[in-house]
Amino acid sequence: MENKDDHPHGNGNGIHHDENIVIVGGGIGGLACAVALHKVGLKAVVLEQANTLRSGGISITLWANAFRVLDVLGVGEKFRTMYTNIQEWKIMNASAKPLGKLVLAECEGGPHDVRAVERQVLLETFAGELPEGTIRFNSRVTGIKQSERQTGLTEVELQDGTVYSAKVIIGFDGQKSVVGSWMGLENAQAVGQVAIRGMAMIPNGHKLEPNVNYFLGKGTSSAFLPVNTTKAYWFIIKNQSETGFGDTPPEQVKEEALQFSKTFQSPDLHFLINNTSVENLWKGSIRHRLNKTTDHLVKGNVTVAGDACHPTAPYMGQGGGMALEDAIILTQKLYHALREAPDTAGSQGAEVAGEADEERIHQALVEFQHERYSRTYSITLKSHQIGQANNSGWAVMDFYRDWFLVKKSLNKETFMLPAQFYVEELPGNSIVSSVKNTLY
Ligand SMILES: Cc1cc2nc3c(=O)[nH]c(=O)nc-3n(C[C@H](O)[C@H](O)[C@H](O)COP(=O)(O)OP(=O)(O)OC[C@H]3O[C@@H](n4cnc5c(N)ncnc54)[C@H](O)[C@@H]3O)c2cc1C
Repeated sequence: MENKDDHPHGNGNGIHHDENIVIVGGGIGGLACAVALHKVGLKAVVLEQANTLRSGGISITLWANAFRVLDVLGVGEKFRTMYTNIQEWKIMNASAKPLGKLVLAECEGGPHDVRAVERQVLLETFAGELPEGTIRFNSRVTGIKQSERQTGLTEVELQDGTVYSAKVIIGFDGQKSVVGSWMGLENAQAVGQVAIRGMAMIPNGHKLEPNVNYFLGKGTSSAFLPVNTTKAYWFIIKNQSETGFGDTPPEQVKEEALQFSKTFQSPDLHFLINNTSVENLWKGSIRHRLNKTTDHLVKGNVTVAGDACHPTAPYMGQGGGMALEDAIILTQKLYHALREAPDTAGSQGAEVAGEADEERIHQALVEFQHERYSRTYSITLKSHQIGQANNSGWAVMDFYRDWFLVKKSLNKETFMLPAQFYVEELPGNSIVSSVKNTLY
């Protein structure tokens, strides 16, 4: 696909860039997508509102499906050597009474990758794979419209007045997606739970076992796990309908976490929160949206992916994994639409070629959404249900959760199924996936 004009034109606030592919949002999904596109020879720019790669100094638990994506992008081994592989999943009540546990290697298809990975390292690794200038920081997208200059082009406008025109726009811009709003998607809804998460630094080394320790309380839940030998990730979740606390001073968030952690009889949890600096804390509302159909997920040559497409409660730890899968599958579709396309321009002229590109791109985006729908829908739904059951706060529900749901979930045959989704290698590479995607 030829770029008509890569050089910005216009003056002052009216600067105009023509690009082939624009990705809105330089988070986990947007950067992974840019790397994948780059690897198959499709040029993209990433518009990121922040002035730098920024992730709040915390971790994200990545499972085998996400590691498969990292392998396809050529960076999986780096993360395997840096981060502890989790061996056991232990669930306790708030008094630390064991409710059940599972040895992950014994689960169907094991051994498995389950690691808490530093978000910042993930972002920096992806950024390091990209040609200089791919990520445009301080680029907050405020508006989108079909181009009046040429059919098949869409324009995104930045807060400072700069305009990018592109043949493909991908909204990887998170749960409050501007791209999604333009496409007519409803906002992700707060589910009435608030999370505080953080990463503790213990320079002399901690003594944690390589396990996830999960606590279920009354209307609350919490967990901690080692990231590596000197860092550990923790979170607490409680029922709270309040939103809009983005301006809460981090010292106050830490105090809140410390006070709240007393709900759980876990000296390790208190220790970890105490050893978390205020820069490594995050507090936010949990949000989700179930897309009833794929109808509003493609508009012309614009689509959404990652949290912008399927905002998911974090109870299965799969939101980031699904964003990474999206990045690869979307790239595969665009590659087939653009790199393998017949040479229409040669025989019928540029205008016909433009129309053919436009149609192929649209079809590729539609196919992408159809392919992703059942998996992302089922995980989004199940994550929400787990959150409601874990945090209901009703005594009867808590009894059912502790004596039935926990045992049902800690099942060697089924526990790892959501992570057993393996994307295919990128086109042009030699390794071919031998595992079929069966469940989602
Ligand atoms: C408490 C909690 C725990 C979680 N734990 C896990 C876990 O263990 N494992 C897991 O896989 N997932 C987890 N998730 C989910 C995971 O964080 C998300 O699914 C993942 O970050 C989605 O990536 P993304 O790139 O789609 O969006 P984001 O990471 O949200 O990135 C969006 C990017 O777009 C940028 N942006 C937004 N608007 C604009 C705009 N208008 N213009 C330009 N740029 C814009 C933002 O600055 C940001 O950089 C958790 C989520 C929460 C809330």
